[in-house]
Amino acid sequence: MKGPILEINLPEDAVKWSGPIAYLDRDGVLNYGSPNYINSPEELRLIPGAKEAVTKLRELGYKIAITTNQSAIMRGLWEDDTIHEIHAKLQQEIGQIDVIATCPHRNRDKCNCRKPMPGMLNAVSETLRGRSHSSVNWYGQKPLPINQFDLMVGDRDSDMSAGWAVGARLFQVDEKYGIAEVLQRIINNDSGDDFSPV
Ligand SMILES: [Zn+2]
Repeated sequence: MKGPILEINLPEDAVKWSGPIAYLDRDGVLNYGSPNYINSPEELRLIPGAKEAVTKLRELGYKIAITTNQSAIMRGLWEDDTIHEIHAKLQQEIGQIDVIATCPHRNRDKCNCRKPMPGMLNAVSETLRGRSHSSVNWYGQKPLPINQFDLMVGDRDSDMSAGWAVGARLFQVDEKYGIAEVLQRIINNDSGDDFSPV
């Protein structure tokens, strides 16, 4: 099975990144989600404060990555270009994102990238750093992050699990308020939420 879809916005001559990565869920963090998926650019609505938060993270020295489960793709609900059109609109509104990773799979596809699995985060880390976490032990200790400031922002436990698996600081938000809800904690270098994946 193919892995996640990666949309990469890095210069050709980009050197390996040694700084922190902010892994962000999309729906409920940057834009409002929908039980019926966001199916077109027209349905995309940013959550207030999301653009300012992403801009601030960039100023703080983070590479910005979106990691989003979008099983509508494997369900066959969309044309292949739909995800790219939605992400073009998102970046028009919020600014360019370094890497966008999309898992197109359903639960029953049993892939390694659908959150709570950390495959998208690891693919982003490989893309930016040339290294990542090679395995996950859900019953062990939380692994050490590659960079101590790595963080994951999401509205669901599955986001927190995926971030836990790469040792990231975890910031869970309400889907109504999105990333703006935790921006000040991130600015303060808060150690993140306590979370156990099992
Ligand atoms: Zn997947």
